[in-house]
Amino acid sequence: DTPYEGKVGFLGRMLGRKQAQPEIRRTLDDDMLEQLEELLIASDMGVDTALRVTANIAEGRFGKKLSVREIKELLAQEIARIMEPVARPLPLYPTKPQVVLVVGVNGSGKTTTIGKLASQFRAAGKKVVIAAGDTFRAAAVEQLQVWGERAGVPVMTAAQGSDPASLAFDAMTRAQAEGADLLMIDTAGRLQNRADLMEELAKIVRVIRKKDPNAPHNTLLVLDATTGQNALNQVEIFRKLADVSGLVMTKLDGTAKGGVLVALADKFGLPIHAIGVGEQIDDLAPFDPEEFAAALTG
Ligand code: GDP
Repeated sequence: DTPYEGKVGFLGRMLGRKQAQPEIRRTLDDDMLEQLEELLIASDMGVDTALRVTANIAEGRFGKKLSVREIKELLAQEIARIMEPVARPLPLYPTKPQVVLVVGVNGSGKTTTIGKLASQFRAAGKKVVIAAGDTFRAAAVEQLQVWGERAGVPVMTAAQGSDPASLAFDAMTRAQAEGADLLMIDTAGRLQNRADLMEELAKIVRVIRKKDPNAPHNTLLVLDATTGQNALNQVEIFRKLADVSGLVMTKLDGTAKGGVLVALADKFGLPIHAIGVGEQIDDLAPFDPEEFAAALTG
C-alpha cells in the first residue's frame, strides 16, 4: 500500500492496455513518443514537462527497441529524478517560535493541513500555537478550533472580521512568552480581491517582523491536487502575493492523477513538504519521490 494508491499505475495501466504485456518490445519512434506524451499529459503533467520527459527518454535511444517494462522503468527514473530535489520535509529551526504562514485558496485544505501538522509536531515533542488568521470566515475559525482540540494545541482567535495582522501579533507575543517552538498562522484564501489579500498578507508579515525580523520562516502554500493543472496557476498567483517557500499537496488520496506534482517540481522547484492523503489527523505523509514515480508508472 502506498499513499499514491489510485493514481497509481495510471500510466502503467494505459501503457499496459495498449501493449498487453510488459515484455513486448516496441520501437521508440515518433509514434511511440507521441503516445507517451499523451499519457503524460493525461496524467496532468502538462505539455512542457511531458515533452521534456519524453525527450530525455528518447535521447540516445531513438529508433531502438525497448520492452514496455523498460519504458516504464525509464519513465519512473525520469520522474524520480525530477522529484528528488523537491522532496524535503518542512525544515525545523532552533528559532523560537518558528513562524509558519499558511496560504492557499479556500477549500484547498489549509485548515486540515494545519491540524495534521500541529498533531505531528506535538507528537514530536514540540510546543505549537495556532493563529486562526482567516478572521472573516467564522466556519474556518471553528474548524481550526476543532482541529486544535484534536491535536491538543491552543488556537488563538479574534472577533469575526477583526484585523488578522493584530491577531498574528498577539499570537507572536503569546508564542514568544510561552517559549513555543512553532507558530502556525492560517490566512484567508479569497482570491476574488487579490489586492486586498496581498495587503492583508503583507501586513501580517510586517507586524510579526516587529517581533522577529526573520519571520515568517516558512510560507507554506497548500494546493489541492484534484484541481490538476490549475495548481500551477495557484502557485503563480500566490508567489506574487507572498514569499512562498514550500508546498503541501492535499487530496492525493482522491481522484487526482498525480502528474501535476511532476509539473510543479519541473516548473517551480519548490519543496514539497508533505502530501495529504485523507481527511483524518494522521493522513499527512512525507513525499517519497521513488514511491511516487513507481506508483505513477505502475
Ligand atoms: P481550507 O478552506 O483551505 O481551510 O480547507 P479545509 O482544510 O477546510 O479542507 C477542505 C475540504 O478538503 C475538507 O472537507 C477536508 O476534509 C478536505 N481535505 C483536506 N485535505 C484533504 C486530503 O488530503 N484528502 C482528502 N480526501 N480530503 C482533504
